Amino acid sequence: MTVTVRFAPSPTGRIHIGNARTALFNWLFAVNNKGRFIQRFDDTDIARSKQEFADSILYDLHWLGVFPDVTEYQSRRVEIYDAAVERLKAARVLYACYETPEELDLRRKVRRTRGQPPVYGREALTLTPEQVAEYESDGRRPHWRFLLPNFTSDPLQPERTEVHWNDLVRGEETVDLASLSDPVLLREDGTYLYTLPSVVDDIEMGVTHVIRGDDHVTNTGVQIALFQALGAEPPVFGHHNLLTTVSGEGLSKRTGALSIESLRGDGIEPMAVASLAVLVGTSENVTAAHDLSELARHFDPAATSKSASKFDPDELFVLNRALMHHMPFEEARDRLIVLGISGDKAESFWLAVRGNLDRLSDAVAWWRILSDGPQEAAEFSGEDRDFLHQAFDLLPEEPWNGTVWKDWTGKIREATGRKGKPLFMPLRLALTGRSSGPELADLLPLMGREGTLARRP
Ligand code: GLU
Repeated sequence: MTVTVRFAPSPTGRIHIGNARTALFNWLFAVNNKGRFIQRFDDTDIARSKQEFADSILYDLHWLGVFPDVTEYQSRRVEIYDAAVERLKAARVLYACYETPEELDLRRKVRRTRGQPPVYGREALTLTPEQVAEYESDGRRPHWRFLLPNFTSDPLQPERTEVHWNDLVRGEETVDLASLSDPVLLREDGTYLYTLPSVVDDIEMGVTHVIRGDDHVTNTGVQIALFQALGAEPPVFGHHNLLTTVSGEGLSKRTGALSIESLRGDGIEPMAVASLAVLVGTSENVTAAHDLSELARHFDPAATSKSASKFDPDELFVLNRALMHHMPFEEARDRLIVLGISGDKAESFWLAVRGNLDRLSDAVAWWRILSDGPQEAAEFSGEDRDFLHQAFDLLPEEPWNGTVWKDWTGKIREATGRKGKPLFMPLRLALTGRSSGPELADLLPLMGREGTLARRP
């Protein structure tokens, strides 16, 4: 059977690096198993789901290098869920409940004070036809709960019922169905909660592996029971740990914090995001992979830690710098053209500056420095000014070869007796206006003799 995975966000906001982790775990799993990747939008919550968010999620995934084989929307598949509901009703495992949220809340409190677990007590199963008729005539509409198979013959007497699975990430997992409330599958207004559509789609779409965050571990117990109630074999499950901020807070689509969009806006490369999103909180070192196939070779879901992983955005810049440092000109060329960096010097310029960039767009500042001169004029002491005049007078005639910087500074050293920092720093400041940056040996040929002399203070 073809390995089939899905990434199933609700389109209620922009995805963040934690969502990217889930998407990439699925994508890399598919890559490593020659499988299919389904993009599924869990948009049954029509009030909060928006097409613009679905579009932005697809855009962000493409940017990361994830190209779904197919894209599905749950809002367009309601008839399929309705058919499943009829089957569950016919099997008498879906039952109508009429409690209001306040009534449920009160019951939970009572159960707690009695030392009982705060789960739903299945009171709706004991309603008489008259009581139901009364609720209906009062205008109450039912919501529908799935009867968890956690009893022998009397649903009012639940017993410990373990559901087991071998988790791709966490190994042996167990959920006791008696510790859970029967989940509501359908709301009063006839709209679906996440649980049933997800299972029905996983069956219908032939999903073989469900890889998602470990906030769904308990859901998995319920969903396995639902797969079985619908006569289907459950898929293999894998629950990866979640990412948190440095201070330990969870990430949220709503706040927009660490959204893929904002990272892109900060100039972070897709492979810096992908490398960190996948490798943080695993036993692999977090290094920048060049592309997703390379990352796939490092990807092993079982090597993921079971506890939440703190995530430091500064690490993205470390990875970004590493990617810049090794980026071949061919890969940067088109992006540099867009930034106005082109012509016969573009390649040697790129090779000279790439090791000093936090982000690709930082190349623009260096291109300006090289073409127009320092952007801020440096202040020099009288002594340094004299030194620089002497130095500029010694600049070799053209044509220059690859050793011009060495030749020039050799002559300066001989004539002035300066060496080390007192020699190089005034030159660097005069030539670039900055106290650090790319190797001057690489920059000098790009300035040419005329350009260099124009920088004489
Ligand atoms: N819409 C669910 C979520 O974003 C999907 C969970 C799942 O993968 O089943 O949490």
